[in-house]
Amino acid sequence: MSQRLSVRFALVLSTLLGAVTPARAALKVVTSTEDLASLAREIGGDRIGVESIARGYQDPHFVEAKPSFILKLHSADLLIVVGRELEIGWLPPLLQQSRNEKIQAGSRGYLDASLTVRILDIPQGQITRAMGDVHPLGNPHYWLDPGNGRRIAQAIQAKLSEIQPADAAFFAQRFADFDRRLGEAEKRWDASLAPYKGTKIVTYHRSWPNFVERFGLDVIGYVEPKPGIPPSPQHTIELIAEMKKVKASIILVEPYFDLKTPQSVARETGAKVIVLSPSVGSEKEITDYIHLFEYDVNLLLGALKGTGH
Ligand SMILES: [Zn+2]
Repeated sequence: MSQRLSVRFALVLSTLLGAVTPARAALKVVTSTEDLASLAREIGGDRIGVESIARGYQDPHFVEAKPSFILKLHSADLLIVVGRELEIGWLPPLLQQSRNEKIQAGSRGYLDASLTVRILDIPQGQITRAMGDVHPLGNPHYWLDPGNGRRIAQAIQAKLSEIQPADAAFFAQRFADFDRRLGEAEKRWDASLAPYKGTKIVTYHRSWPNFVERFGLDVIGYVEPKPGIPPSPQHTIELIAEMKKVKASIILVEPYFDLKTPQSVARETGAKVIVLSPSVGSEKEITDYIHLFEYDVNLLLGALKGTGH
C-alpha cells in the first residue's frame, strides 16, 4: 500500500469506526447471577454491557468454574454479587485469578447487592456443622421479594452513577421507569395472591423466605432435612406426618433438584408439586426480573386454585 493510500485507508476506517462506536465505550458489568444482570440492564440500558457468570437454571451455590469466567472478570469495570456467602464456593478463586484490581471486594468496582436489602434468617448464636449449610450472614435468596429487587436496582443506580457520573441523570430516569413498572406489577401480584394468605406450603431448599413473606404464604417444612443436606428417609417420614397434620397443600421445588422425594411426599399427602423458578433465565420465557415474578405468581396461582381453597 502506498503511503497516500494508507493514509486515505486510515481516514476511511476512522470515519467508519466513528459511525459505529459510541462516544464512550460502554461500561463492562459482570454479575454473579442473571437476576442481578437483569436489574443492571434495567438501570444501565445501552450505556453498559452486562454479562452474568451463573445461568438461571443452575444452583447458584454450586457453579462450575470455567476459564471464560476469568476472562470476563479480567476486563470488567464493575462486578455485582449477591453476597451473604451465596457465591462463596466458586467466586473467590475466579476473582483472584482475574487479576483485576478494580473489582476486588472493597474496591469501587465491586458491589455487594445484599447490603441495602431486607435479609431474613440471620442465625442467632453459634453456628455448628450439625446445622447443615446454614448461611451465617442470613438467607442469600433475598432477591425473591420485589421490594428487594427495587432496593438492588437503587443500589445499582447509585453505583453506576458513581463510576460514570456523566450518565447519572440517565440512570436515575431508568430507575424511575423500572420502579413504576415494578410497582404496577406488584399491585397485580398482590391482588391475585391475596385470597390465599396463610396457605401452608413446603419448599425443597430455603430459597423462598422473602418470597413467602412478601406474598403471605406459610412455610411449614422443607424437603431438605437441613439446608444443603439431601433428603433422608427419617426426615421425609416426619415431614409427611407434619404436612398431614397442618394440611400443607403445595411443595415448591427449585428446578435443579431431583423430583423423586417431593413426588413421593406428594403421593402420601395429596399435596401438589410445582417447580418454581428462583431466577431469571431458568425458563426460556423468564427474560427479566419482572417476568420472573409473573411466571412464578401465575404458576403458584394455578396450583393454589387447584387445591380448593
Ligand atoms: Zn441457599
